[in-house]
Amino acid sequence: MTHEKKTIGIFGGGQLGMLLAEAAKNIGFETNIYCPDHESPAFKFATNQTIAEYNDKQILVQFIKSVDYITIEFENIPQNTINFIAKSGKLFPSSDAIKISQDRLMEKDFCVENHIATNEYTDVVNISDLSHWNYDKKSVIKTRQLGYDGKGQRVINTKSEAEQAFKEFGNRPCILEEFVDFAIEVSTISARDTHGNTFTYPPSENIHKNHILNTSCVPASIDQKTENTLYEISKKMIKNLNYIGVLAIEFFVLKDNSILVNEIAPRVHNSGHWTLDGADISQFEQHIRAISQLKILNPKLIFKTKMLNLIGDDVNIWKDKNSSKNEKIYIYGKTETKMGRKMGHVNFLEEFKY
Ligand code: AMP
Repeated sequence: MTHEKKTIGIFGGGQLGMLLAEAAKNIGFETNIYCPDHESPAFKFATNQTIAEYNDKQILVQFIKSVDYITIEFENIPQNTINFIAKSGKLFPSSDAIKISQDRLMEKDFCVENHIATNEYTDVVNISDLSHWNYDKKSVIKTRQLGYDGKGQRVINTKSEAEQAFKEFGNRPCILEEFVDFAIEVSTISARDTHGNTFTYPPSENIHKNHILNTSCVPASIDQKTENTLYEISKKMIKNLNYIGVLAIEFFVLKDNSILVNEIAPRVHNSGHWTLDGADISQFEQHIRAISQLKILNPKLIFKTKMLNLIGDDVNIWKDKNSSKNEKIYIYGKTETKMGRKMGHVNFLEEFKY
């Protein structure tokens, strides 16, 4: 190792934290995972663990002192906590970038301000705001915050359906957006370091089942021009966010090949799990490198990869099997199998034929 042993603090203890901790360990870092849950998968590879609520100021102070760099594995950490950690100067990505991606309205506004195409939307603070929308076309109402895997969002066709959903979401601030009749969904995983380097992995083609990511395939079935545009948009977003670390961007590609940004995630992402085997450097290592002021690398694509998520009981088919040359199995070790819960994933690899 060329660098001395430093410690990376990671907020969140799920599978993303686990794979980040493993990558950090592999390149010579220690880790401290901060999570309220005693049985977090991320503890498996962590050097240290901090089990506490995210707003426990005393523990936060100790935690910040004990680490050199801090990052997050999920964006829904309370904003007060994000602001508090940010003051240490150790947090990457920045609190501003995290705040934007915690809020669907801010994400969409960011796209518009930066001339990046996104679907039409409007801000809904009160139920009366639902009157300023044209219901001739199908729409989607989404809570601005804390939505994931289809939670806090509903497709609607009429104003009364929108009102019903708004009330069921607890009258929380929402956005109402155009339903997109997309041809395919793709995402990019980009990284930017403190030395000004950026890198974007080849886009993955994503298929969702019940609003949860089911498969991600690389290469995606898009033409070179579309792929190049995705690289351009990704580079523009990561630079304009002044972002350090790995950023995931989800897109809709329409039948005419036009591209709209759906949403962003300020972290490593499920649709980037293919990089664990399909590329020679994973998204997890890139993120650790970027946030610890190392230079990111230029990973190479080594396999065509299809990543399959193991959701709920799907894990039972795979949990006792061993990985093989072409099937790499990852079981997260969560104690309870729940419907809709991500329990593991498999990467299916195929050689490139030239
Ligand atoms: P999100 O949480 O916004 O990523 O939404 C989860 C999934 O729901 C997306 O990946 C899409 O498959 C679908 N979805 C979300 N918003 C829209 C939309 N405006 N039009 C069509 N499908 C959508």
